[in-house]
Amino acid sequence: MRTSRYSRKKSIDTSGDPYLNRARPEDNTRCHGCGALYHNKRWSLNTLVTPVAKAQEGKVVFCPACQKIHDGFARGFVSLEGTFVSAHRDEILHLIRNKERRAIYHNPLERIIEITNKAHGMEVTTTTEKLAQRIGAILKKAYKGELTYKWSDGVKLARVAWHRDE
Ligand SMILES: [Zn+2]
Repeated sequence: MRTSRYSRKKSIDTSGDPYLNRARPEDNTRCHGCGALYHNKRWSLNTLVTPVAKAQEGKVVFCPACQKIHDGFARGFVSLEGTFVSAHRDEILHLIRNKERRAIYHNPLERIIEITNKAHGMEVTTTTEKLAQRIGAILKKAYKGELTYKWSDGVKLARVAWHRDE
């Protein structure tokens, strides 16, 4: 029996990340958005261990994270609520951005899409469910409060809720 590429494509696990299932770029391609380098089948911003990118003349490539940010395709949602959130907004934002910076260093595909103000706090959307989980964990570690996780069946999607009143 001939296994065609076509039939294999159909059986792609839908719980996977559709952005990662897209056509892979050539080795040593640099993302036009964030500057991450695609090398040895992974994206990296750690320029110390990656070679100089080949010039990709006339070819504009975006990494999966930049594509998700452009499309607003979130895999993680962190909702922050409570009076503590509005009273310590700047400090909390600093903590979250710092967490993102460290996550990006290890994996540039883990990024914050948007931070929006809500009636009783704010919401952070992320490109991966793991980053949402990590942001929840760092909030709990830094400020205590109530933390809950909800994982969707079938798809990789995380809803994290953190709540703290004064
Ligand atoms: Zn990028």
